[in-house]
Amino acid sequence: MTEDVIDDGILLWFPGPASFTGEDVAELHVHGGRAVWQALAGALAAAGGRLAEPGEFSRRAFENGKLDLTQAEAIADLVAAETEAQRRQALRQLEGELGRLYAGWRSRILDLMARAEAAIDFPEEDLPDTLLEEVRAGAMSLAADLARHVADGGRGMRLRDGIQVAILGVPNAGKSSLLNALVGRAAAIVHPLAGTTRDIVEAAVDLRGWPVVYCDSAGLRETGDAVEAEGVRRARALAGGADLRLLVIDLSDPASDEAVAGLVDGRSIVVLNKCDLSDRDVRLGPVPHVRVCAATGDGLEDLSDRLSAVIADRFGGGGAMPTRERHRAAVAGCIDCLQAAVGAELPELLAEDLRLAARSLGMAVGVVGVEEVLDRVFREFCIGK
Ligand code: GDP
Repeated sequence: MTEDVIDDGILLWFPGPASFTGEDVAELHVHGGRAVWQALAGALAAAGGRLAEPGEFSRRAFENGKLDLTQAEAIADLVAAETEAQRRQALRQLEGELGRLYAGWRSRILDLMARAEAAIDFPEEDLPDTLLEEVRAGAMSLAADLARHVADGGRGMRLRDGIQVAILGVPNAGKSSLLNALVGRAAAIVHPLAGTTRDIVEAAVDLRGWPVVYCDSAGLRETGDAVEAEGVRRARALAGGADLRLLVIDLSDPASDEAVAGLVDGRSIVVLNKCDLSDRDVRLGPVPHVRVCAATGDGLEDLSDRLSAVIADRFGGGGAMPTRERHRAAVAGCIDCLQAAVGAELPELLAEDLRLAARSLGMAVGVVGVEEVLDRVFREFCIGK
């Protein structure tokens, strides 16, 4: 122990149970330099302290009933949020939007369960004949609500991980130049030799508040080169799986239109590149068309406006969404059990299926069967928050 002064700081005392974790908590606010921090950490360690494990504060808050599991996850998301859309989504989840939705559904299931059990426990009593039918109808309508929740095209997960925007077109259309111009740095190699980009090059950016991952790919063409052919195969797979696609046409090369014409769909924006070289106009369908010059940056503001408008339309608005595979799996599991309940003849089986359905949602918010998921959830934290 030392009597030396380490720094001039503030001590804040948060008495439990009103504190974040529910326990008594003291916070030391000091100047952030490495030497101050090391001296203080050393002094605290000498006094018996240790560093928090990743996610330990949130875990304690969860274990003390201050947060549900979706809220604890939202803290990790808020720490990791890099764009406005991610911050807003994480904050809504932290405020309990998703957890309340799941808890509300779970309580509807418990209600149905109580009625099914009444039919089991008091068969001779004066229970209405229609009771079990009502329970089945309730389970069916709940399953439909849950199915709508997971039929969101993975929007919530996309906002967390980044919206994939594929850049597609023939070799030399200017895809790499476009990627570089959009991200403002040389992420991809730009070369007049066709077939330069053979793998997928990804660059994550904040586009007007949306998390976007641009993916540049090999030019779409027939090729005898095995490595390039693999690149083309990956480009086609990317085209299939991407959330949105920029279909790049080289206005100075009419043959470039054909390679992307077959890819036009609701997820596409046609980018008419090299507008400095040609006045040619091209229309490939009822999707936005933007004239740009990737070499100088002309038209890129317009392209970013159009792209962010399409993203806002597809990914914006709309209440609570599953933001992790864990949520989707829990809801999907719940739907399966509800459907089994609807088909169950015996009231005992009906009640058991409802119990399993409630358990599935209970795991999502962390009120049952949590041990299996806790380590996985809190491992995601990179710091001792
Ligand atoms: P990619 O194969 O589709 O990725 O095409 P690149 O981005 O490598 O570009 C191929 C060639 O076209 C390079 O020489 C670029 O400098 C050139 N290029 C790209 N965009 C433009 C443009 O808007 N105008 C002109 N004049 N040349 C461009």
